[in-house]
This record gives sequence, structure tokens and C-alpha cells, in this order.
Amino acid sequence: MSVEAGRAEVVLLMGPPGAGKGTQAARLAEARGLRKLSTGDMLRSHVARGTELGRAAKGIMDAGELVPDDLIIAMVEAELAPMRPVRVLLDGFPRTPGQAEALETLLAREGASLTAAVALEVADDELVRRLGGRAVEEGRSDDNESTIRYRMNVYRKQTQPLLDYYDQRGTLHCVDGMGSMDDVFERINGVLP
Ligand code: AMP
Repeated sequence: MSVEAGRAEVVLLMGPPGAGKGTQAARLAEARGLRKLSTGDMLRSHVARGTELGRAAKGIMDAGELVPDDLIIAMVEAELAPMRPVRVLLDGFPRTPGQAEALETLLAREGASLTAAVALEVADDELVRRLGGRAVEEGRSDDNESTIRYRMNVYRKQTQPLLDYYDQRGTLHCVDGMGSMDDVFERINGVLP
């Protein structure tokens, strides 16, 4: 696929923890010539480096709560502001209405708008199964069973309402996230403009 370097493109990958956002985000970003920004990865890097943000975020992440909007928005803004044009695939952001509004303002300032919000849909028991596997493979400190359930609730309460927000704007595409990585990738490609 050709890389359209001159045109703004902003794709959001949404879905509950364990839906496969990280894997699909990496492939999609590569295929579409987009920079992948994963707020979870960025935060884990801050924690590993022991930065001020990392020290503020660690306990919150381990508890499965959301890091406060102002910290997340500042972190994303620092990455987006220098991009000309904005060509980005956002993985795990926005997660709250406040973050969604901030993103809209940021993009408007850069003369860009949202291309698509893709929501991966995966059954709950499959999410728990996948996250349990990831806990063994990656040793993430927030992938234990009680935190997994808690994060799924946080997603339902705080992030799922955003799907309506994007649906009302005509940018939401719900994609079946069950099945093989290749199948899901093809489905996502199929809904993107
Ligand atoms: P993830 O890797 O996307 O599952 O994120 C791991 C953890 O990082 C989450 O459980 C939150 O504690 C935090 N986090 C990541 N992205 C955000 C965000 N957009 N807003 C608030 N907290 C976030």
C-alpha cells in the first residue's frame, strides 16, 4: 500500500483490554504509513525510565484505574503538535469524553480531523482468556485476574460511552475482533476509507 505522506490521517483503535488493539495497531500503522501512538506503551516506558510521569502513573496503572486526563492529554499533545501533517494511529486513546474532546480540539488546531474510530468487539470470556495468556508471556503487572476484571469494568463505564460519541459523528466502525489476527486485520482494512 502506498504511503500518502502529504495527507492527514487519524485512526483510533478502540476496544476493551485484550481485544487485540496493540497487535492490530502495529500492523495497521505499518500498512498505512502512520505513526503508532499507544498511550499504554508510552506510560509503561515512563514507568520503566522512572520519570516524574512514570512515578505518578505506576500505582494507578497497577490498580487498573485510568491515569488523569490532564497527564494523558499533555503526553499525546507533545507527540501530535510537531507532526506535519498529522498521520497517526492512536491505540488506547481517547479513553474518556474529556480526552475525546481534547483530541478534537488538538486536531482542529492542526487543520486535521478524525478519519475513523475502529472499535474491536470481543466476547468477555475470550478477553479474560487472552489477558491471562498475556500475563504469563509478558509479565505485565496489571494482567492479574482481579485487575483484568476491574479494567474491563473501567472500560465499560468510562470508555464504552465514547463509541456513541463517534457513532453520532459518523466515524465509528465496529469490527468483529474474534478469530485469527489476519482475519481481524482484513476486516479492519475493509472498513477504513
Ligand atoms: P493499555 O496498555 O492501553 O491497556 O493501558 C494500560 C494502562 O495504562 C491502563 O489500564 C491505564 O491505567 C493507563 N492508560 C493507558 N492509556 C490511557 C488513557 N488514554 N487514559 C488513561 N489511562 C490510560
